[in-house]
Amino acid sequence: MYKTIEDEVLKKAAPAALKAEFIQHEFERLHKFCLLIYVASIVIWVLFDLIVSFIGGQGFTWLSMLFLGVFTILAIVLLFTRKARHFHVLNLMFVFAMTLGIRLVIEGLPADFQPAWLVLAAASTLYSASVLPLSRWSFYGAQIITWLLLNPFYDTHFHVLELRGMMTVCYAVFLCAMTVYCFLKLREAKLYNFIMSRLLLDQAYIDTLTEIPNRRSFMARADKQLQAAPRESDHYLAMIDIDNFKKVNDVFGHDIGDEVLKRVAADIKAVMANFEYARLGGEEFAIYLAGVRREDVAALAGDLCRVVRERTTLHPVTISIGLARVAESDTLNQALVKADEALYESKHSGKDRYTFHQ
Ligand code: GH3
Ligand code: MG
Ligand code: MG
Repeated sequence: MYKTIEDEVLKKAAPAALKAEFIQHEFERLHKFCLLIYVASIVIWVLFDLIVSFIGGQGFTWLSMLFLGVFTILAIVLLFTRKARHFHVLNLMFVFAMTLGIRLVIEGLPADFQPAWLVLAAASTLYSASVLPLSRWSFYGAQIITWLLLNPFYDTHFHVLELRGMMTVCYAVFLCAMTVYCFLKLREAKLYNFIMSRLLLDQAYIDTLTEIPNRRSFMARADKQLQAAPRESDHYLAMIDIDNFKKVNDVFGHDIGDEVLKRVAADIKAVMANFEYARLGGEEFAIYLAGVRREDVAALAGDLCRVVRERTTLHPVTISIGLARVAESDTLNQALVKADEALYESKHSGKDRYTFHQ
């Protein structure tokens, strides 16, 4: 079953909006991890700068302070960054500042050490970038900046065509390919997991026939609203049942019965768009109306009965509604029982109407 759904998902290309949602979701999930990578990079840079400054005899200058200040500002900006697309730009700035800072520290090393340390620094930067929640352009941008600023052949004794140079080129190509491949594969795997979990969640919380929320979804959402405090105005619960629905099935068949269910669900969705509504099961629906007055509830229930009754269709039906005010001390189940009792009243006083629980 899982495999069948997975194959279906893998066949389709993800729509752009879903991808954008995924990128934002990833960034939110990994926000702390991004901060950790930034702070760890700053700490290791400061450590190397101190070693080169004092043991290497370069002296800790205003330039070190300047870089430390810039890194810290960028990390603080990340702390307050909430949008993934802002992070993608910020990350390019951080990679630029960090690789420039690293280059300056490495320039304080003996000339023979420099190319190897430049490659090491590039490897660390690219590996870190490959695990961050970046967009493709931001990641490729980081690759370009890294190789421009940490180019082991620029201003060093290395030459491309000599033995050490050739080995360095081979390693750099390997490093590039590995980090790009890891970045793309990791992203693809995470994207499909995201799409799969979204799909399965949708299926768990949406009624397949009517495509409105199901009982599970309703119980979770209505309960959340019920427990929200403080209440600004009253909460009401409505239970809806289609009148004489068995007859529709018996006379016209189950398929027409299903069409009627879809139509009533669409009417509920249209009239109650601002509230939590759901198909509880069979031909029963429920609505949780938060922040409403009794008059509004009566008007909405009256509208809904009228919309269903007056719909021009070959198979007209009516509905009965039971309404209950949800007291602050009520549980959702207690409120459902009250609304059900009111629904019973509607049925027994002639159907096609709404009744408030006494
Ligand atoms: P009342 O006015 O008292 O509500 O009478 P009723 O005929 O609607 O009675 P009841 O509510 O007990 O009928 C429920 C019927 O709904 C029985 C069942 O066959 C039908 N039903 C439940 N789920 C579905 C469904 O998914 N599709 C169809 N077509 N019918 C369904
Ligand atoms: Mg029923
Ligand atoms: Mg019924």
